[in-house]
Amino acid sequence: MAGTTRAVVQTGPRALELRELPVPDIDADSAILRVEACGICGSDAEQYVGTIPVHYPLVPGHEPLGIIEAIGDRAAKRWRVDVGDRVAVEAPIPCGHCRSCLTGRYNVCRGRGGGLFGHGYVPLSRAPGIWGAYADRMWLDPFSIVHPMRKDVPASTAVMFNPLGAGFRWAVELPDTGPGDVVLVLGPGQRGIASVIAARAAGADTIIVTGLARDAEKLALAKTLGADHTIDVEQEDARVRVRELTNGHGADVIVEVSANSPVPVAESLHYAAFGARVVLAGVKGFKAVPDFVSDLIVVKELHLLGAFGVTSPSYAAAIRLIESGRVPVERMHTHDFALGDAAHAIELLAGEVAGEQSIHSCLVPGLG
Ligand SMILES: [Zn+2]
Ligand SMILES: [Zn+2]
Repeated sequence: MAGTTRAVVQTGPRALELRELPVPDIDADSAILRVEACGICGSDAEQYVGTIPVHYPLVPGHEPLGIIEAIGDRAAKRWRVDVGDRVAVEAPIPCGHCRSCLTGRYNVCRGRGGGLFGHGYVPLSRAPGIWGAYADRMWLDPFSIVHPMRKDVPASTAVMFNPLGAGFRWAVELPDTGPGDVVLVLGPGQRGIASVIAARAAGADTIIVTGLARDAEKLALAKTLGADHTIDVEQEDARVRVRELTNGHGADVIVEVSANSPVPVAESLHYAAFGARVVLAGVKGFKAVPDFVSDLIVVKELHLLGAFGVTSPSYAAAIRLIESGRVPVERMHTHDFALGDAAHAIELLAGEVAGEQSIHSCLVPGLG
């Protein structure tokens, strides 16, 4: 046994406690990560309130960045990393054998136990227990996927590999965005702004972002990081504005990343150009979409694409962009939190803290 580590344990909806847990022993195929930072995203908020089906107690945290503290010989060879290297860790821990894995969709693998199997989602009862990154140290499984990352980038910037990876997968990889495309991003949260950065990097022609009146700061930031136009859907008629801004053409790529409300899903079809690709990535708590006019999909020959999670090529693109320093992605970063402040960090991201907003935030165990 290699000593103990602090870890935030979720024991039920809205119930987090800081505990001291034993650091697992590794074998030839596994490793221990010293967590430098763990990003907080919308699904942390859903997990916190209990809408993601998991078994308690567990250690949350599916966006880990850290330093390899101990590693087995075979893992070091397979992953091409060693003690002291910094790695970005993907959330899923795929089985490698199910139909999803074998058809290139390892991000939706359910092969390791029927449900979600990934860092931050596996209960303490399944040895060795510390599967999540809300901790000083965590377990890296033989099937974990790691990406080496340069150490001179500040941890709170480097850990943005996760939202930026989502931007590349949802706004570029899935809809095959390229030069000449008009890209419309619905929702200016961290995933929306990351989509702007990725679409810009992919050579998109015009990028438009929509949001609500209370999103004014986020919309301004989206513009700083690559958007050409922003629309406040409460003040302006978004259908008319999109038509004006695109000379009547509409958007070639639409990325729906707004949280909770199904209204933008129905609206997206009205903004779409003929043959447009519409990517749905914002979850709505399984609510039905009112006023959804499916005929628009037929007559415009639209392509509707669902996006769940991120895959390796998009993580790699995000990591290269961050390491290049070409885009000031750190401007998205608003808050660092100590492990003991995990509940506050999640509530802030979920918009439950009056008078304060976060865009990208992370837990930094080194803060205490
Ligand atoms: Zn996440
Ligand atoms: Zn699988």
